[in-house]
Amino acid sequence: MSGRLIVLSNRIPNDGPPAGGLVVALDELLTGRGGLWIGANDTPTDTPSHSLTPIPGGSGYDKAVFDITPAEYDDYYLGYANAVLWPLCHRRTDLLSLERRFAAAYAAVNARVARMIAAVVQPDDLIWVHDYHFLPVAAELRGLGVKARIGLFLHIPFPTLPDLAALPERSDFYTWLSSFDVVGLQTEADVARCFEAFRSHPAGELWFDGRVKFASRVFAVRSFPIGIDGPGFAALASRPLDTDPLPLATGTRLVLGVDRLDYSKGIPHRMRGFGTWLGNRAETSPRATLLQITPPSRSAVAAYQTITGELEALTGHLNGKHGEIDWTPIRLIERNIARETLAPLYRRADLALVTPLADGMNLVAKEFVAAQEEADPGVLILSRSAGAAEQMTDALIVNPYDADEVAETIERGLTMPLAERQERHRGLMRVVRDTDVFDWGARYIDVLSRTERQMGLRSETRSA
Ligand code: UDP
Repeated sequence: MSGRLIVLSNRIPNDGPPAGGLVVALDELLTGRGGLWIGANDTPTDTPSHSLTPIPGGSGYDKAVFDITPAEYDDYYLGYANAVLWPLCHRRTDLLSLERRFAAAYAAVNARVARMIAAVVQPDDLIWVHDYHFLPVAAELRGLGVKARIGLFLHIPFPTLPDLAALPERSDFYTWLSSFDVVGLQTEADVARCFEAFRSHPAGELWFDGRVKFASRVFAVRSFPIGIDGPGFAALASRPLDTDPLPLATGTRLVLGVDRLDYSKGIPHRMRGFGTWLGNRAETSPRATLLQITPPSRSAVAAYQTITGELEALTGHLNGKHGEIDWTPIRLIERNIARETLAPLYRRADLALVTPLADGMNLVAKEFVAAQEEADPGVLILSRSAGAAEQMTDALIVNPYDADEVAETIERGLTMPLAERQERHRGLMRVVRDTDVFDWGARYIDVLSRTERQMGLRSETRSA
């Protein structure tokens, strides 16, 4: 095995034990191969360094951060990344904030990060870029003469062709992507959308082996559905607890929703579906409480500010209308809950409502399945618009926009016979095992390392 692994991601864990599955998997890959993990400095500074700043924490590999200014935090991170690319990829072009200064800051930060990487990269290194914050970085690196293999993994959905038309930088978008050697996407549906985008471009060509030629470059597009550390999460979920994490009246069922506060998660639609179920519920039907855990995110972006009010109004309205002295139908929690507390709650829940309007994968769906007790598993209701639905076909799949369908499916889930719950759970567990995050990382690196270095056809040579 030659060459180091260089990982570029917006977030970099900077102290304490690594938390989520992805962070643990990247840490393990880097420890095994040696290399460098680069991320953004959490604290913006008016005097950004022009080189990477080492930070402590990697065992057997290095960690470093790049600086951004407060204006870049606003325009590059909140602006272009989260108020342009995020809504674009989540089918919300109505929410695009198209400001020229956002695009300029995005270009400037990516050019600076590319210069910093170019200063340390060796020809045999593998550069693995994560997510939409860094789409132009490979094109910048190619411009600086870097011939090392560069792969992208896009954690969020690939935009549709009609939506792409709304991006002022749409012609750059093709150059950005084609400068990578491997474009990794979550699902086959994402791959199909990527192919469609390149097929529709006059300079794009699809090859029979699944690669794409664009101008002078050829690159691979593949799906790598991400997963979780299933056994690790199951162990966290099944730890014996001193006290019941959520005492509910006897017979009251627990329905769980866990999502960052984001318009793509469809939380108000879900509450309306639950409200329809409450309204249709027969006196003899079981009672259920929806526990909706919703940590705030990106609250500085305008489109995120109205959702909290909407959720609070829906919660108040539905609790007032349907609540009883001894039953609160909806509990809304507006803060982050630690994984150690979350995991046993998943295990306790009878039903999970994972109903995003658009989602790259959705790890909550996989965590919920991994957390269940095999003998008496809960039921997963999953939106057809989550990437996870492509594989997790044993879930109850719903149209998240259709409140009646969501309500009927809640009733079906709450009354599902044990044998059917067990059978569905077995199928879902197979998916959790097949998409284990450690295998996912190893598979991506395997594909990237076997990709011919520099597949440029015209102007680029095979030499380092
Ligand atoms: N999560 C958490 N505490 C919370 C809410 C969510 O730790 O209060 C975690 C959750 O367990 C999952 C992640 O946040 O690992 C959310 O990942 P997902 O893919 O579902 O959505 P994203 O937020 O990345 O869009």
